[in-house]
Amino acid sequence: MSEGHTVTPLRVAVIGGGIAGAGAAFYLAERAEVVLLEAEPTLAYHTTGRSAALLFESYGSPGIRPLTSASRAFFDDPPPGLADFPFLSPRGGMLVGTEQQIGALEQWEADARRQGAWVELLDTDQARRICPALRPDMLAGAVWEPGAADIDVAAVHQAFVRGARRRGAEIRVSSPVTAMEKTDGGWRLWAGDEALTAQVVVNAAGAWGDEIARMAGLDPMGITPMRRTVFMAPGSDEYRSWPLVAGVGMGWYFKPDGIQLLCSLSEENPSAPCDARPEPLDIALAIERINHATTLRIRSVRSSWTGLRTFARDREMVIGFDPRAEGFFWLVGQGGTGIQTSPAAGELTASLVLDSEVSTRLIDHGFDAAVVSPGRFL
Ligand SMILES: Cc1cc2nc3c(=O)[nH]c(=O)nc-3n(C[C@H](O)[C@H](O)[C@H](O)COP(=O)(O)OP(=O)(O)OC[C@H]3O[C@@H](n4cnc5c(N)ncnc54)[C@H](O)[C@@H]3O)c2cc1C
Repeated sequence: MSEGHTVTPLRVAVIGGGIAGAGAAFYLAERAEVVLLEAEPTLAYHTTGRSAALLFESYGSPGIRPLTSASRAFFDDPPPGLADFPFLSPRGGMLVGTEQQIGALEQWEADARRQGAWVELLDTDQARRICPALRPDMLAGAVWEPGAADIDVAAVHQAFVRGARRRGAEIRVSSPVTAMEKTDGGWRLWAGDEALTAQVVVNAAGAWGDEIARMAGLDPMGITPMRRTVFMAPGSDEYRSWPLVAGVGMGWYFKPDGIQLLCSLSEENPSAPCDARPEPLDIALAIERINHATTLRIRSVRSSWTGLRTFARDREMVIGFDPRAEGFFWLVGQGGTGIQTSPAAGELTASLVLDSEVSTRLIDHGFDAAVVSPGRFL
């Protein structure tokens, strides 16, 4: 390159300030001029602020697992200057089943092992040593993932945002994107009271992903937001060391959160994109199922919330350029694993947008871009 020659960085608009948008902004801002547009007055207000905050490597569809394993290094050892502490703390995850569910447990264990997750099958006694509240008559075995960990979601999200800002990204809140128009060199967007241009738009709008596509004049991808409610029940100091425990059919789960128990029915009820609120029936059903499988005797609820987990039809993520519209990049369909995959998904977004290829590091983890490509639905 001749002396004095400068390359103008690509200008990228990221729509959505949840974990997906923040992670993408962080990785993109290393080499691109980034503006992140968030509709709400605060970042991470929707699904990102409502998760169960767990990294569970054996959980999620086959295409997702490599993104989880590739994210682990970021969580364990954050890049210099982002955080002085690891984002994970030990928790463990245990799927339990009845006599009729032994086949499902064995299948889970085999699938997880094939993809390199560290899991083992446990018998009833071993499972009850880990969580003594499990009722022996409702338990025939378990799959144990010792490496499952609690994620400090707020710290990860803040680290992405802080890191993106340090790299020059502009983060705008109260900036709902309301219209988009294709231009010669990219896109013109209207966000809040302002218009701006970008060569690339990253659609990280979570449950609103298809709405953003419609604004861009594209047919929707067919992603579906699904409600899931979580509630806090009174716990006890002796629960603190328990792992996340889930019924293998995923009809319930709980995990300690301080001295409370975070519980859920694991429901998946389709919803329009919205500020979702808990349904008392979902909480009542979860309490019934957890009390049936354990000796916990949950009777009251301290707080509850609902978030939208958004899935594509095949339950794989949708990450990549839309072949129908130059410069329109999808980063949606994170389902129930958007936190634990966020570093790798951000890294992938930056390498696809800026280098048009997948980094060797992600390929080494077994990641296949075709599995998440938007083109598979078009
Ligand atoms: C109960 C529950 C438990 C979960 N547990 C886990 C877990 O243990 N581990 C895990 O990895 N994942 C978990 N998840 C999933 C995880 O929370 C999601 O996959 C992740 O938060 C999705 O992030 P996102 O950034 O795509 O979406 P969001 O956080 O919803 O962010 C999208 C953002 O886009 C903004 N937006 C929308 N439209 C516009 C517009 N027009 N203009 C500007 N901004 C716009 C929204 O305001 C929103 O802030 C859980 C989810 C739920 C609900």
